Amino acid sequence: MLECIVTKFGGSSLANDEQFRKVRSILELEPTRQYLVPSAPGKRFPSDDKVTDLLYACYDLASSGKDYEHLFVRIRERYLSIAQQLHLKVDIEAALDEVSRGIGEDKSRDWVASRGEYLCGLLIADYLGWRFVDAVEGVRFHDDGTLDDEKTQELLSGILKDGKPSVVPGFYGARADGEVVTFSRGGSDITGALVARAVNADVYENWTDVSGFLMADPRIVENPAEISSITYKELRELSHMGASVLHEDAMFPVHRAGIPTNIRNTNKPYHPGTLISRNAPNEASVPTITGIAGHKGYSVIYVEKNMMNSEVGFGRKVLALLEEYGISFEHMPTGIDSMCVVVKSELLAPHRDEVISRMEKLVEGSGSVAVNDNMSIIATVGRGMVHNCGTAARLFSAMSRARINVRMIDQGSSELSIIVGVNDSDFEATVRAIYHEFVG
Ligand code: ASP
Repeated sequence: MLECIVTKFGGSSLANDEQFRKVRSILELEPTRQYLVPSAPGKRFPSDDKVTDLLYACYDLASSGKDYEHLFVRIRERYLSIAQQLHLKVDIEAALDEVSRGIGEDKSRDWVASRGEYLCGLLIADYLGWRFVDAVEGVRFHDDGTLDDEKTQELLSGILKDGKPSVVPGFYGARADGEVVTFSRGGSDITGALVARAVNADVYENWTDVSGFLMADPRIVENPAEISSITYKELRELSHMGASVLHEDAMFPVHRAGIPTNIRNTNKPYHPGTLISRNAPNEASVPTITGIAGHKGYSVIYVEKNMMNSEVGFGRKVLALLEEYGISFEHMPTGIDSMCVVVKSELLAPHRDEVISRMEKLVEGSGSVAVNDNMSIIATVGRGMVHNCGTAARLFSAMSRARINVRMIDQGSSELSIIVGVNDSDFEATVRAIYHEFVG
């Protein structure tokens, strides 16, 4: 039996009173679910607005001296309707008045945005009869706006050590001087992970509106299989390539603390979802590949220079040049007298001519520089690849049968992934070919 579970519920899981009811019954199913981190109410239907977006819009209106009350009414109605439907006692009207006043009184953008989670936390704490812990008390930011990880751990674990069931609103915290700071969008996932680490939870459950991760993008592969278990490292590779359900920064605190994250679906509470852990269980039955993810829109800078292999420091000069323009590179396969640097086209575009002409100077007289745009990068990820011979062979024969020209190959140094570069026009066909080869 699990001893302590931290739950985080996303915006769609708290969008209205009906969703609140589902949350309570999920908590009642498992009494060791003792901590809850809420997002702000999200969309109730596809064309609806998230409360956080409405708050940002109110802030923008107020800061340009325009009337925001007509928009704030929509926020007000959402919280009031939940409170009324669930017969809550908390004085949410007073709290809403204070938020509205704050917007008019030049409160910071982060303060305004954070009120979505704050108000939602007040409601859910009242509904559950749990303690409300304001995140400004437990989540600490440095003056430069980055998280003060150590202090946060100290503060949160201190507050929560009495074991009382508690609600800690997601997405924000405060600097030492009390000024509210938010994470980037989707940041309640990070708060959930910080709370899980602070109470040394057995599991961090992240409840959302999907049943976990899929092996491939459903817009490309019809009905892709679900991923039941994945390691943090694999997930990092996949989410870097665009598979997103969880905020990227939410993995670090729990990964380091050895706490598994379980992605669950509020609308299907009995579905086991995806379990993310340091070492996935059932290693005996591990599938060869865990997932496929990719992106269009990369450029390959191809640099050729005679005797490159014997010139010490040449690669550094190429990378230092990119660094000067703030362009990070994604991959860098090298040959004896050539190297390819794969970068996001949108990062290269503003400096393209300058970068290329300066690189040409680096190889002057004994080489050349060329750029190929419209490249897609596809990562096939799987911890099973290390133990299985022939994975690469299968992957490339599948691509060749589909008549796809491989433009670049890179096997991640972790042996967790095989990266291929193809023309953008071959992107979808490549994902499908690899998926059907390994999954059927
Ligand atoms: N409410 C915030 C957002 O919409 C944070 C979150 O939901 O995690 O980004």
